[in-house]
Amino acid sequence: MPKFYELTPQERLAVLVDAGQLDQADADAYATQAALPEAVAEHLIENQIGQFSLPLGVLRDLPVNDALYQVPMVTEEPSVIAAANNGARIARLNGGITVTTMPHRVTGEVVFDGLADLAGAKAMILAREPELFAVAEQAHPSIVRRGGGLKTIEVVIIADRWLKLQLAVDPQAAMGANIVNTIAEAIGHHVGQWLNQMPLVAILANHSTALTTATVQLDPATLATAHQSGEMVAERIAAISALAEVDIDRTVTHNKGIMNGMTAAVLASGNDTRAVEAAVHAHASHTGRYLPLATWQLRDHQLVGTISLPLPVGIVGGAMNALPLVQVNQRLAHITSVETLQALIASVGLVQNLAALRALVGPGIQAGHMALQASALAMAAGATGAEIKLLTDALQSQDKTLANAKQLLNELRD
Ligand code: NDP
Repeated sequence: MPKFYELTPQERLAVLVDAGQLDQADADAYATQAALPEAVAEHLIENQIGQFSLPLGVLRDLPVNDALYQVPMVTEEPSVIAAANNGARIARLNGGITVTTMPHRVTGEVVFDGLADLAGAKAMILAREPELFAVAEQAHPSIVRRGGGLKTIEVVIIADRWLKLQLAVDPQAAMGANIVNTIAEAIGHHVGQWLNQMPLVAILANHSTALTTATVQLDPATLATAHQSGEMVAERIAAISALAEVDIDRTVTHNKGIMNGMTAAVLASGNDTRAVEAAVHAHASHTGRYLPLATWQLRDHQLVGTISLPLPVGIVGGAMNALPLVQVNQRLAHITSVETLQALIASVGLVQNLAALRALVGPGIQAGHMALQASALAMAAGATGAEIKLLTDALQSQDKTLANAKQLLNELRD
């Protein structure tokens, strides 16, 4: 009897239906809604029974380092791409965003627990370090041929108990998780033989200090809204940014808004959204307090916005070659290097934050949100096809509640 994971997707659905865990109509929904080639979906993950699609939109003309980029974004939240476009428009009026990146490095850690002589073990490892570079090269020769591989080793004693080898690896154009894991395990095995002990752990660290920094300088006049002068909006954005540095309720929401855009761009790039999120939130807490990822300050009558954060992403490897639209997205955004991708993701975060703060200090976030939320409400009420636009339009001047949407839909259908 084959195991569940050994079945075809159709057979897995049949098992769920036979077990009374899924009805046939829902099984048919899983079987028929497909965005990926069947073979790709089936082999990318375990226990695959269907596909889950999200809309892909584009952020137009994001001005980064003197060029305009078209950035694909994948999200289910209606207002995200509209807000990003609005933020990018303001950045364009102000000469665009300047981005710098630090060398792309991924860290691995090999940790030994309970060694009798920590200092002696550390001295021995440092003395035999060149051997470890050879072990790393043997474990992953192709990354060395590409100019990458293990670059530095630091040996650290933690809490008088653990001995850690901290490995800095250059993964070239890849995100590098698997590359680092391969190297860390080989080094762990090798050093384990010297110490006559298995390492406690030998794996990638999702923590990163290789930062991408994006800055934009805004003339307050470009921030004016229908009811507020640009100067007032700029002052209020600086004030809300300062609040985010001391009020955790604001900080978390401030950063969530930034991740709205960044995660959408990371997902469209085929990268690991969890790796980026873990690294980013660790960075937000690197002082011991959770701080805003982007800040806005008034300097010489200009509003200066800066975002600085680690972005562990790649442009090859992982699922990127398997997901057909990732290649298309890379071509649309002209992403030919990790640095370009990092620059675009950081810039998306910055303009996303700008648009959110400008709305917050001005008309509030709900006006724009609810207008865009109307289509989601129309679909939740049961509108299909052409009804969605008709009901969305009708809802603009009405109470945006599900009950009202359902009533309006009934009226439309009469
Ligand atoms: P891969 O294992 O796919 O490694 C990338 C491969 O791409 C390399 O081995 C290399 O193979 C090939 N390649 C082709 N061109 C280049 C180039 N120019 N530069 C570098 N490599 C190139 O991916 P990663 O190591 O990047 O790992 C990323 C994946 O790991 C993601 O899917 C992530 O979700 C997953 N992951 C994440 C973890 C975490 O975050 N904690 C843990 C484990 C996995 P060759 O040289 O042989 O051609």
